[in-house]
Amino acid sequence: MRPPFLYPLFALPLSINGVGEKYAKLLQNLGIFKIVDLLWHLPYAVNNRRRLHSLREFKSGEINTLAVTVVDHIAPKSRKQPYVVLAQDTEQHELAIVFFKVYPESIKKNFPIGATKIVSGKAEFFNGRWQMSHPDFAVDIENSWQIPETEPVYGLTAGITNKFICRLMYHALKAVPEMPEWLEPNFQKTHQLPDFRTALEQVHHPSSASVLAPESPAHTRLAYDELLANQLALALVREKVKKQAGRKIAGNGLLRRQIIDKLPFKLTSAQEKVLKEIFADQSSENRMLRLLQGDVGSGKTIVALLTMLNAVECGAQAAIMAPTEILAKQHFDTIAPMLENIGLKAALLTGRVKGKARTQLLQELKNGKINILIGTHALFVEDVTFKDLACVIIDEQHRFGVHQRLNLSDKGNRADVLVMTATPIPRTLILTAFGDMDYSKIDQLPEGRKPVDTRVMPLTKIDEIIPALSRKIEAGERIYWVCPLVEESEKLDLAAAENRFEILQKTFGNLVGLVHGKMKDKEKDQIMERFKQGEIKLLVATTVIEVGVNVPEATVMIIEHAERFGLAQLHQLRGRVKRGFKPATCILLYGYPLGETSRARLDIMRKTEDGFLIAEEDLRLRGGGEILGTRQSGTEQFCLAQMPEHQNLLYTAHKDAAMIVTQDPNLLTQRGQALRNLLYLFERDDAVKTYLAG
Ligand code: ADP
Ligand code: MG
Repeated sequence: MRPPFLYPLFALPLSINGVGEKYAKLLQNLGIFKIVDLLWHLPYAVNNRRRLHSLREFKSGEINTLAVTVVDHIAPKSRKQPYVVLAQDTEQHELAIVFFKVYPESIKKNFPIGATKIVSGKAEFFNGRWQMSHPDFAVDIENSWQIPETEPVYGLTAGITNKFICRLMYHALKAVPEMPEWLEPNFQKTHQLPDFRTALEQVHHPSSASVLAPESPAHTRLAYDELLANQLALALVREKVKKQAGRKIAGNGLLRRQIIDKLPFKLTSAQEKVLKEIFADQSSENRMLRLLQGDVGSGKTIVALLTMLNAVECGAQAAIMAPTEILAKQHFDTIAPMLENIGLKAALLTGRVKGKARTQLLQELKNGKINILIGTHALFVEDVTFKDLACVIIDEQHRFGVHQRLNLSDKGNRADVLVMTATPIPRTLILTAFGDMDYSKIDQLPEGRKPVDTRVMPLTKIDEIIPALSRKIEAGERIYWVCPLVEESEKLDLAAAENRFEILQKTFGNLVGLVHGKMKDKEKDQIMERFKQGEIKLLVATTVIEVGVNVPEATVMIIEHAERFGLAQLHQLRGRVKRGFKPATCILLYGYPLGETSRARLDIMRKTEDGFLIAEEDLRLRGGGEILGTRQSGTEQFCLAQMPEHQNLLYTAHKDAAMIVTQDPNLLTQRGQALRNLLYLFERDDAVKTYLAG
């Protein structure tokens, strides 16, 4: 599919002479797997090697370049001492060129006394004279061209030198073909943007640091290209989904009525409002593509269920997909009994369902016996076929890619798609991760929820909270105790959690349980079940996922080393004790030293429970860099575009993409053809393959 003239860009670095397996591996540490990834590896600074006239112009600690005459050699007296070549500039100021662990012979050969050499490297003024250790360059006058005047400085990894990257870049740039312009001519003109190839040349051969600034024409051009590829791919996806005629899903409401009548609560007006929006989408001729946002505990599950039942009332099937097995199981445990009550069938499909059970499940799915399928990404697997899937719900979608989302809807018969998220997502993120979906928000928590009493205290006060926990347990309440998991040292964390577990056991005996990521699923389930049933009253957990379970009796959340968690995580965790109607407590224990930002973050947790406010504050504290639990909220990782510096470009790209898709939905015009290359360049092949006709 990819046009052959782009093949060289997608070759492996191995295809470059002198790059063996070892270097190819090392490059991967920098995210460089293909030639094109090299091009996206922008330098972050520029070395200036323009020749100076005398040592007086040297700047200590910086790279300096100068022609000097060799006057003497001082051989080391011991192995530890360096070999020193003494040289002078034209004003007889002295420069010591210093070498450690070298063969004197080679130095003598390269620096004969009386010779003039141009040396370039970091120089330091030290003990009253200038010295340069291991110059980056030392060449004869006639070879001065070998020293670049300016040189890009790249992010490196152990074993990879800057020179090496520069050499590879030379090959990578050569592999960039001439391509027809895909930018809108007026836009390009107004912003004076160079063409794609020139822009790459400029950033990889920066004449000065200003070329690397986000607002430079070259950087702007590249960032815009990347953002446009992102936005165009999303716009094409959306266009395809929307265009496919949907089907009118408007059931008689009987099943929904039965469920609502049996609920132990009344729907909030916020839930009613979003349901109205969703039902309107479902009943229209178009396919629904809607994002439903609601804070933790706002009651998204029942909204999802009623949405699915609308499809079931029309004789069709529905599916809901969760990001983890535990969350899928939780949905199943909530939904299955409710359905059974009204004579319907739900089934759970995760990677763990195997063999005969799976075969039977697939059979029942195919013949329509199963009305609602609940599961993880195991739902995508090819052999999963529905009789008539009309509604797809994706919960906590931020962990899935766009591609996966649509994959599932492709299993359907013009299925509607509802994506649910608890993470408040700023507009920038909605745009980069979803394009513009329709959007509903549950902006109200069920009544009767009491605010969580959130306290922030140092770890040293642990002993004081133990008696309070005893009282809670005696009163029949349940407690989560979360220990942090730092990826780099999973072992240590596990040890810490086990240690905590043992300590708590001394007080609470077998009322304490421990659940962690290294456990077998079965074991985990058993512990969770015992916590739910109340055999375990205090649950120590290493990972946050394990506590994604709905246990209304849980009223206390203790988070050890809360300063190590992101605000989003803390907010989600605290949400776990807001399920019931008893007042809940959240204790955030911090370790020393506590930085200013960490302190501010914990303070926000103490002051508010509003997810949106927390998200905004988080954004502010992180200075726009890593937005609220980036990993969780599904930000695209951009290589060339920088947020928030290029945020305005994002909005422009968004508009541009919308216009392109309206005017040339199959990218057939001259610009459209050029844009196809752009999509290939940024590996949005899917968008071309799947969403363009012909
Ligand atoms: P989330 O939006 O976090 O997925 P859930 O759907 O899990 O929230 O709901 C959290 C809890 O609130 C559940 O125990 C659910 O039964 C309850 N709940 C949902 N809607 C209401 C309501 N309108 N009134 C009272 N409780 C509700
Ligand atoms: Mg939920």
